[in-house]
Amino acid sequence: MPGELILLVEDNDNNRLLIRDVLQATGYLVVEAETAEDGLRMAAEQHPALILMDIQLPGMNGIAALQQLRADPATRAIPVIAVTASAMTQDRHQIMAAGFDGYQSKPISVKGFLQAVREMLRAEGPAAR
Ligand code: MN
Repeated sequence: MPGELILLVEDNDNNRLLIRDVLQATGYLVVEAETAEDGLRMAAEQHPALILMDIQLPGMNGIAALQQLRADPATRAIPVIAVTASAMTQDRHQIMAAGFDGYQSKPISVKGFLQAVREMLRAEGPAAR
């Protein structure tokens, strides 16, 4: 629901600004990281309701970052949606097998993207935990 905090981990400026604007226009609070390392630190500090994770990042990639999130009791339960330009079916299978809660391909479709965010927050909201 609006007002919930979403952490966006994305190194591409254009993608990050677009997604941030779409989320903020919908009423979500957004914090941003350009690297997985910064994203992990922010996730532990700020306990977002949802994390949107790019896969290809400088340094640690999004799959390694997910493993770190899952290994830390403080961040283990936060749902994480992969947001990636990897459009091949094989890539998608690999990403879902890594344990992401969802998958959105770039460039995003705004309507489908927001729907996925809404559904994830509803499914994984405080009442469900
Ligand atoms: Mn990237």
